[in-house]
Amino acid sequence: MERLGGTEPPPGPGTAATPDLSASGPEGRVARTALALREATGSGGWTLLDHPLLALEVAGSPAYLEPDAVVVRPDGRWTVVEIKSFPMIDGSADPSKVGAAARQAAVYVLALERVAARTAGAEVADRVLLVCPKDFSNLPTASVVDVRKQLSVTRRQLARLTRIEDIADTVPEGTTFDLERCSGDELTAAVDSVSASYAPECLAACELAFHCRARSREADAVEALGRGVRGELGGLTTVASVLAAAHGESGDPRDPTVAALRRAAELRAEALASAAAAPGRTGGGDGRDGPGPAGSLSACEAASTGGTRSSGATASTRSRAGTGEAADTGHGPGRSAPARTES
Ligand code: SF4
Repeated sequence: MERLGGTEPPPGPGTAATPDLSASGPEGRVARTALALREATGSGGWTLLDHPLLALEVAGSPAYLEPDAVVVRPDGRWTVVEIKSFPMIDGSADPSKVGAAARQAAVYVLALERVAARTAGAEVADRVLLVCPKDFSNLPTASVVDVRKQLSVTRRQLARLTRIEDIADTVPEGTTFDLERCSGDELTAAVDSVSASYAPECLAACELAFHCRARSREADAVEALGRGVRGELGGLTTVASVLAAAHGESGDPRDPTVAALRRAAELRAEALASAAAAPGRTGGGDGRDGPGPAGSLSACEAASTGGTRSSGATASTRSRAGTGEAADTGHGPGRSAPARTES
């Protein structure tokens, strides 16, 4: 608690209040947490809430969130405490893991702000306390993490989420996803009636990934190549249109995407020609260099890097193309972080 700053002296051993937050059902636990937060704010002392339960409206439906702890300071400021198992070595931890913890904590802060808005004298800190094992030992150490950036991103994402009622309005009357009442065909039709936005990250996160990937490939959609590639391709939404632009068959040459694709295609042709002409080489590599999906992925990736990839990089891309996937440096799955409550 000393790390939380402020002018108040830190609490002595056993002096911080730790209210019982047990209640029946999630609604009961949320109400009990709100009451404990109000009482703690009014008490003017230190309080530690162990695994409180918070509610946050996500796309019109409540999502229940359980931070590891919330500290209430004597001045009425509430701070989220996130406990993680990854180590903090010499005061620093893996940035990607810290970033994920910060995004998770930001959702808790947003949920706490809803409660604080109804509590006199309460304020939610935009810095959270990250607790980790110290240098691979069993000792805990803590660091304060600024989550203002994650807060603004999450606020924007939540505001843009389509309400579940609006999605339901687009689904045909009588559609159900009930596994027990539906035949396989009915279930497939029900899933197909909902639009999806497949990306390669889905393979690690969603059981529908193979289904959505097949639909994406059927539609020739560039999303199947990864969000990073998709972002670079601008208005070109199908692999066929990308290939046509790269081969000079369509597209405005003044369009930077089209120009980058054509330059990438030229670089690739040059690289293949010089490889074929090199002493000791009998052909253009592994025999998969002809026109087709593999070539199209190489062009796409080269375009995504400004057409400056070497032939070695192109070959690396081609090997991924054989699996139907491309490198992707985008953000995680298209699920919203708020729904996740794991610690
Ligand atoms: S996250 Fe969405 S788009 Fe991705 S596989 Fe699952 S349902 Fe399909």
